[in-house]
Amino acid sequence: MRKNIVAGNWKMNTTVPEGVELAKAVCEAVCKEQNLKCDVVVGVPFTHLCAVRQAIDINKVGLAAENCADHVSGAYTGEVSAPMVASTGANYVILGHSERREYYHETAEILKTKVDLALEAGLKVIFCCGESLEQRENGSFKQVIEDELKDSLFHLSAEQMANIVIAYEPIWAIGTGKTATADQAQEIHAFIRSILADKYGKQVADDTTILYGGSCKPSNAPELFAKADIDGGLIGGASLKAADFMGIVTAF
Ligand code: PEP
Repeated sequence: MRKNIVAGNWKMNTTVPEGVELAKAVCEAVCKEQNLKCDVVVGVPFTHLCAVRQAIDINKVGLAAENCADHVSGAYTGEVSAPMVASTGANYVILGHSERREYYHETAEILKTKVDLALEAGLKVIFCCGESLEQRENGSFKQVIEDELKDSLFHLSAEQMANIVIAYEPIWAIGTGKTATADQAQEIHAFIRSILADKYGKQVADDTTILYGGSCKPSNAPELFAKADIDGGLIGGASLKAADFMGIVTAF
């Protein structure tokens, strides 16, 4: 059975002390929750990983980096490799976020390498895909999503896919306040599951967690999470306040 997951993506927000406070507040709230129906993960800047790892109970709250390098080690000034991320005690990495694809020119080929290195380092990958507004309006969005998944993930074995979480994040809904409707999101999640079934068979498709991301908040999470193929969320803005984030965590 696949897991429900709610994962925060703090992006480039909070100082280390602020991040530690936020992570502690999330962990305390998660520990108090009697009837939790999802796993909870916080995605934090590289600078925060060690301190946040110390501040949380990793058995209650998973810890993600927001990126990793496409090399293991060497003369790559400013980069942070997957083994380095794993050595902090983090257990996840977010890859393929549209902001990294757009602003840092991360191609499908680069992401394929990052996925391989992350899995080799023992990290689970939250792999993002999603279309722009233009691609939604010109009708190419399903092809765009299919290509993003095929080009960076479909070289993996069925066993490796057990460590991949997919996040569908329509770019037009990220940080804009415009959420995809629950029906729009469900349509794409079912489509993603069908592509997974074609490539890996029904079992892998059924076992893969597919998150929705894009202006998800406590008010719209229940309707989104009620859909058959939506297994939780990747949360940007609303993950920066423990109360808002917990409002989404408890939305199942
Ligand atoms: C994100 O960037 O992953 C995201 C979903 O952002 P927001 O929730 O702020 O739209």
